[in-house]
Amino acid sequence: MSRAIRVVPLGGLGEIGMNCLAIEQSDGILVVDCGTSFPQDDLGVDVVHPNLSYLFENAERVSGVVLTHGHEDHIGALSFLLERVDAPVWGPAHALALVRRRFEDRGFAAARARLTEVTPRRRFGVGPFEVEPIRVAHSITEATALAIRTRAGLVVHSGDFNFDPDPPDGEPTDEERLSELGRAGVELLLSDSTNVDVEERAGSEREVGLALGRVIAAASGRVFVALFASNVQRLRSLGDIAHATGRKICLLGRSLNTQVDIAQRLGKLSWPSNLLISAEQAATLAPECVLALTGGSQAEPTSALRRLASGDHHQLQITAGDTVVMSARIIPGNERTVLDMSCDLLRQGAHLVTRVTDPDVHTSGHAGRSEQRRLIELLRPRAFLPIHGTLHHLLRHQELAREMGVAHTSVTENGGVVAFDPELGLMADGRVPHGRVYVSATGEALPPGVLKRRAELARSGSVVISVVLSETGEPRAAARVSSRGVAGLDDAPRALERVAQAVSDALAGKRRGLAADELVRRAARRVIVAEGGARPVIEVHLLRVE
Ligand SMILES: [Zn+2]
Ligand SMILES: [Zn+2]
Repeated sequence: MSRAIRVVPLGGLGEIGMNCLAIEQSDGILVVDCGTSFPQDDLGVDVVHPNLSYLFENAERVSGVVLTHGHEDHIGALSFLLERVDAPVWGPAHALALVRRRFEDRGFAAARARLTEVTPRRRFGVGPFEVEPIRVAHSITEATALAIRTRAGLVVHSGDFNFDPDPPDGEPTDEERLSELGRAGVELLLSDSTNVDVEERAGSEREVGLALGRVIAAASGRVFVALFASNVQRLRSLGDIAHATGRKICLLGRSLNTQVDIAQRLGKLSWPSNLLISAEQAATLAPECVLALTGGSQAEPTSALRRLASGDHHQLQITAGDTVVMSARIIPGNERTVLDMSCDLLRQGAHLVTRVTDPDVHTSGHAGRSEQRRLIELLRPRAFLPIHGTLHHLLRHQELAREMGVAHTSVTENGGVVAFDPELGLMADGRVPHGRVYVSATGEALPPGVLKRRAELARSGSVVISVVLSETGEPRAAARVSSRGVAGLDDAPRALERVAQAVSDALAGKRRGLAADELVRRAARRVIVAEGGARPVIEVHLLRVE
């Protein structure tokens, strides 16, 4: 039997987000992570997940799914996979608690899923594979790398990791176990490429805690800290700071409430019950006693921070003397909206602290180049495949592995299968379907054609024209015209009448050879362009009556 395995990337290679990768051998498929990403445009897309059809088509052969940690880009799409693939799932308790919450949101019955909690260093079987989770430090608690025993030997998947020596949850990366594995012989390493452009990752989570403590202790008014809600490490530090500075914590936004609730239940946070107050209570408490934690660091339209910035939060209002700390990075693509929101916060009178004014108020959860190098040193793999990054990140990470003398390296993006054989190394091995599936808030997939038309309507608006015709094609009544989002026509009954008149005239002097709907469309377009210069989507309804 061949000793080759296949690495099948379905998401997260060639992009940031929606990580999903399968490791396949003839007698089984192991899926590592199944995440989502967020839509760029406001076209009614709630969430984006990888095209999972390769796994659907091979559902019988899927031995199981293993989750490395609880970030959305690793767990968010699990319900979409389990809808069609009945496979058992393993993951850290924290990740599984978040998975159950997502199941509730999506109306997926948790009873349908077989979820098993894992413990670092404790091996378990997944079909023909054997998997051992290894603790790694990251910007969430209970993150793991995976040591996977396959027919081709030991494969290590780094998960998302860094080498923070002293994270606030007390669980640094298990370097001892990693170096043991390195000595035992790692055939293939799949490693997180996100921060390959950063030589030294700035600061540690504990240093971020100290910086936040400094800022909060120096503030005289209320303090708002915007952060990624899943960063339990940082929430722990903020709890300690609130305690030390005599402030009460108010959680703004659903996702923070969910994350705090789950972390408390799992014993990852032990905040006394009198530490938390509601937004209503925060509004009446002395400003120097309030520490509000909020999502919305990316200026998401419905987030609490965005509403605070524009002055339409129901309970709280930012006033002069308040401090807002942006304890997060700006995800590429969000720069402009975040800057706009920041300016709105300044207009409200806030004192704004960001990574620009104080670089220590945030650090990344992902390994910088020096830490990526450290992982390769510890594991000394024979082959290396970079994951979790855009093509640029993957290529730079490959270069690093080559510099360090790794014998076989390769780069692939979503859909490009790579075979690994201990004798032959890495080889391209065909392609599988891949891509993005866009899902609306109500759960239905939105085909690309639908999104294209939505974008078209958003750009240029629409005009609907209804005409009643006799069987012989004579107009039986004046045409009805309405418009949406068209300058010069919306709320301009006269202009709409002129379009209707042009349509009726065109039908009366019907030119041979031209279909009635095309005739109507052309006549209408001429007038609409003359009225406002716009080129809207024109919809024509011809109703024929006897
Ligand atoms: Zn992560
Ligand atoms: Zn990730």
